[in-house]
Amino acid sequence: MSDKADIKSMSLEQLTDLVKAMGEKPYRAKQLFGWMHEKMVPSIDDMKNLPKSFRDRLKLECQYTLLQMVDVQVSKQDGTRKYLFALEDGNVIESVFMRYHFGNSVCISSQAGCRMGCKFCASAIGGLVRGLKTSEMLEQIYGISRHVSEKISHVVVMGTGEPLDNYDNLLDFIKILNHESGLHMSQRNITVSTCGIVPKIRALAEEKMQINLALSLHASSQEKRKELMPIANKYELPEVLDACRYYFEKTGRRITFEYSLVAGVNDGGEDARELAALISHMNCHVNLIPVNPVKERNFKKPEGERVLEFKNKLEKYGINVTIRREMGRDIDGACGQLRKRYLERQG
Ligand code: SAH
Repeated sequence: MSDKADIKSMSLEQLTDLVKAMGEKPYRAKQLFGWMHEKMVPSIDDMKNLPKSFRDRLKLECQYTLLQMVDVQVSKQDGTRKYLFALEDGNVIESVFMRYHFGNSVCISSQAGCRMGCKFCASAIGGLVRGLKTSEMLEQIYGISRHVSEKISHVVVMGTGEPLDNYDNLLDFIKILNHESGLHMSQRNITVSTCGIVPKIRALAEEKMQINLALSLHASSQEKRKELMPIANKYELPEVLDACRYYFEKTGRRITFEYSLVAGVNDGGEDARELAALISHMNCHVNLIPVNPVKERNFKKPEGERVLEFKNKLEKYGINVTIRREMGRDIDGACGQLRKRYLERQG
């Protein structure tokens, strides 16, 4: 990869230093930052109030990260769009655009591939290629916003990859997204989903940001969780829940537990009872996701009725619970499958 300064990944302070080192006035850094992160222009040539000589030097000496749109699938049902983007080094990632009553949301990838190995997940199959740069995370949002000509108000880091396995770039990403000279997106509109890397959850809590944490739980006992998620071999369930409580204590943000329902594996009445007992004292919310079948794996989605039964049981125990609305069903395929199919086609 290029070793030129990746200006779209830089904080305003870093940009100011860079601009000064290039012999330009410090206020140029703020202009540059605004062009990149507020106006989201696709080229340095669009930065009209920067002198031509400075633009030429930026083009020569710096890297301006953009993603190449390889494929877009648009749902006829609800306008959900799935994007496949190619990175500078040829790796591909996917992102999803969704329209809600509260605004437009983009689900981004944080890594090319993933090394967490969750048994039901399509992204686990090829392993980790690399973590995404801050600019590559941002550009998924900017590229989609330009493509649909609409503002993006919400971001979920729930695409391919484990965001807390790319921690530093993730934090820089959130800070730029939230910056008043950029999109100025409220931290409360940003959600990070993790399989449960305990020390990183605690570190994130220390940042005292207002972002939402979603924890992929998927089982109500340590034994069952280990069968589905290798990360459970590293961190015991009580440690994970302690870290979630700590996150809530430090930030006041209610935790969302994601629970993918797999027929005959974790969707029984006893599972619901055990789950309720585990989290009933916490300020939390459960999001049930009927598992998206991945063809290499033998996991099946429970019948709709069984999903409802599971939900009702949790509610009876006083748990806040929703069933994830399935968006873009007609362009579906589990998370990570667009990328996987593409890689298979390339051979
Ligand atoms: N690595 C992070 C974020 C990416 S996955 C995490 O583990 O949370 C986003 C969510 O989708 C996670 O809850 C993940 O467990 C879930 N998921 C992945 N593959 C799935 C599938 N085939 N069906 C249902 N949920 C899936």
